[in-house]
Amino acid sequence: MIYKRFTSGSIASCTYILGDDTTKEAVMIDPGYTQKEADVFIEEEGLKLIYIIDTHGHADHVHNNAYFKEKYGAEILIHELDAVALTDNQTNLSEYLGYALNSPPADRYIDEGDVIRFGEEELIVLHTPGHTPGSISLIRGKAIFVGDLVFNGSVGRTDLKGGDSEQLMSVLKEKILPLPDETIIYSGHGYTETTIGEQKKVNPFFQELLGGNDE
Ligand SMILES: [Zn+2]
Ligand SMILES: [Zn+2]
Repeated sequence: MIYKRFTSGSIASCTYILGDDTTKEAVMIDPGYTQKEADVFIEEEGLKLIYIIDTHGHADHVHNNAYFKEKYGAEILIHELDAVALTDNQTNLSEYLGYALNSPPADRYIDEGDVIRFGEEELIVLHTPGHTPGSISLIRGKAIFVGDLVFNGSVGRTDLKGGDSEQLMSVLKEKILPLPDETIIYSGHGYTETTIGEQKKVNPFFQELLGGNDE
C-alpha cells in the first residue's frame, strides 16, 4: 500500500494519504493544514484521490476539505454526528481559532462497520465518540487511525463542545484495548506512531482501564 503522513501547523496536525498500489485509488484522512506537499505526493505517485475521510469535524482536521474536494473531486466522508461541524464554525472551533472555516457539507455519512474501499484496499469504520460525538477510527489490518481519540501517553480532550470523558473511556475499553498489542496507532497529532502494547505501558488512561500498574 502507498502510505504517507504529513504533519503541519503549530499543533502538529496529521494528514494521511493511503493509496492502492495497483489502481492508484487513494484516500486522504484529515486534510488539516497540509496542502502543497500533499499535492506533490499525489502527483508523484499518480494517485486518484476518491475520498476525503474526516475522523471528526474539528477545523484542524477538516481545514482543507474544500481545497482537496475541489481539486480532485473527492467525496467527503464523515460521521453524521460530526457533519454539522463542517458548516458550523463554533462547533468546528475555527471561530475560536480566529478564522472562518469554509468546508463543503458531507457527501456521505460513515458509521460503525462501514467499509471504505479504494482499489483492493479497505478501511473499516469504528464509531469512537468521546472527543466529539461523531469521532470515528479506521482499521486496516493491524493498524488503526484514531484521530484525536488516543495520543502517545494521553487521550483527546473532552472539555470541548460535545466532548464526553466517560464515553471516551468506554470506547477505549471496548474498542481499542482489545486490539492486538502489535496494532499500530496513527494519531491525529504528532510525529510518530505508537502501538497498543506500548500504550498499555505508558498511557495512564490505558492503565486505569487495566486496573492500574501502581499497586
Ligand atoms: Zn479534535
Ligand atoms: Zn485535533
